[in-house]
Amino acid sequence: MENGNGPSSCCNGNGNSNGAPSPPHVAMLVTPGMGHLIPLAELAKLLASRHGATATLVTFASTASATQRAFLASLPPAVSSLALPPVDLSDLPRGAAIETLMSEECARSVPALTDILLRLRRTTRLVAFVADLFGADSFDAARAAGVARRYLFFPTNLHVLTLILHLPELDVSVPGEFRDLAEPLRLPGCVPIPGPDVLMPLQDKSNPSYKWMVHHGAKYREADAILVNSFDAVEPGPAKILRQPAPGRPAVFPIGPLIQADRGSSDGPCPCIEWLDRQPDRSVIFVSFGSGGALPTEQMRELALGLELSGQRFLWVVRSPSDEGAVNDNYYDAESKKDPFAYLPEGFVERTKDVGLVVPSWAPQIRVLAHRATGGFLTHCGWNSVLESLVYGVPMVAWPLYAEQRQNAVMLSEGVGAAIRVPESKGREKIAAAVREVMEGEGKGAAVRAKVAELQKAAAEGLREGGAAATALAEVVGTWTCGEN
Ligand code: UDP
Repeated sequence: MENGNGPSSCCNGNGNSNGAPSPPHVAMLVTPGMGHLIPLAELAKLLASRHGATATLVTFASTASATQRAFLASLPPAVSSLALPPVDLSDLPRGAAIETLMSEECARSVPALTDILLRLRRTTRLVAFVADLFGADSFDAARAAGVARRYLFFPTNLHVLTLILHLPELDVSVPGEFRDLAEPLRLPGCVPIPGPDVLMPLQDKSNPSYKWMVHHGAKYREADAILVNSFDAVEPGPAKILRQPAPGRPAVFPIGPLIQADRGSSDGPCPCIEWLDRQPDRSVIFVSFGSGGALPTEQMRELALGLELSGQRFLWVVRSPSDEGAVNDNYYDAESKKDPFAYLPEGFVERTKDVGLVVPSWAPQIRVLAHRATGGFLTHCGWNSVLESLVYGVPMVAWPLYAEQRQNAVMLSEGVGAAIRVPESKGREKIAAAVREVMEGEGKGAAVRAKVAELQKAAAEGLREGGAAATALAEVVGTWTCGEN
């Protein structure tokens, strides 16, 4: 399936029928999840608008959700998309981790991807191939198709990248489970991470997802460069170290924060935004757990009662709960499977109708965070959500669920100080206290707000022409030369 904006088929790299040089073309493989697609699409758009490139986003058959289709259809003409054919994953055990599913789907798609890249080489001036964090096996396809450069786009942060790059050696030096470590895990430049907060797919070494991550850690080293959706001010320690060249490790370029553009009113009227329009400045806490996160019923209930107890205005995106321990049940499709409102405490919606709005499944997060009425964000700490919050200067309450979110919560609350973390017990009083801290500046709340304002400024400066992120990307593009394929 293509989105109709396919790359021009007039040339094999060096020129079109008018003799003008063809734009450089980049193929990008997007592993499943809106959290992977959105920043890669932003990178593609930036390469088009700033550097005159065109791009093809290659997606997997497993991710053809309505949300994704609508998103791909909204991209500018310079960014086209096509989907890989389905691969058979029926031999994988039921309940296989999403990291395993993504990695397997990628590895099994290498032959089809090779064909696509060969075709793109014939029809465009294909200068580079980009894979994201679970797609490193696709470097084999790029190599087989003779693509000149292979980049890894890392949509999360430098802390997580440091961990994954160190995994082949940690696999040997940490014999037991990470969660049993007596001391927090200390990695070069990074905030120490308590064992239970280390990246979720590493928490059970008998699970195939662990082996996959170690494999990716080794495979990342085959990239010509690693582009990371982060910026120095939010994690200065690892930024300082990874900016230095190191033998055997690709050069690392922090090029973020790349976040979804605010499409404003072009998305049409939206009940959330109309409701926010009626609220005072910085008075509302936005509550959302990303594109796939769902809470167990009991935590959903405590959150409702905690919000009510906090006395703050709130806008909450609710999903039907996940009580089988699968906090990422909605990962491949954000739509709630059941009516989420049925799981809220009795009378909650009625009691809070003057201060709160509860919406099912999905909200236009960027528009919400950009809104003057939004004063805080209770987030699962998905990295896109964190970056979006920082870009719009919204202080955070951290409630991590899965993937690397617990690590992100540590780094944000213990490291840079841009969030207050909800204690593990998740009781309504603790939730209310954390929300009040951020919204009213109680306790550490004032310092968190000041830090977020500082990071907002740093993020904007980096992206400006001549800023650190813009310069890093220009340096990468500067290595593409005409006719090299
Ligand atoms: N998002 C959104 N509305 C929602 C939930 C999510 O627009 O109701 C967007 C959000 O703005 C972000 C992405 O989906 O760009 C979620 O990415 P993140 O890395 O935060 O979390 P993930 O979904 O990967 O867990």
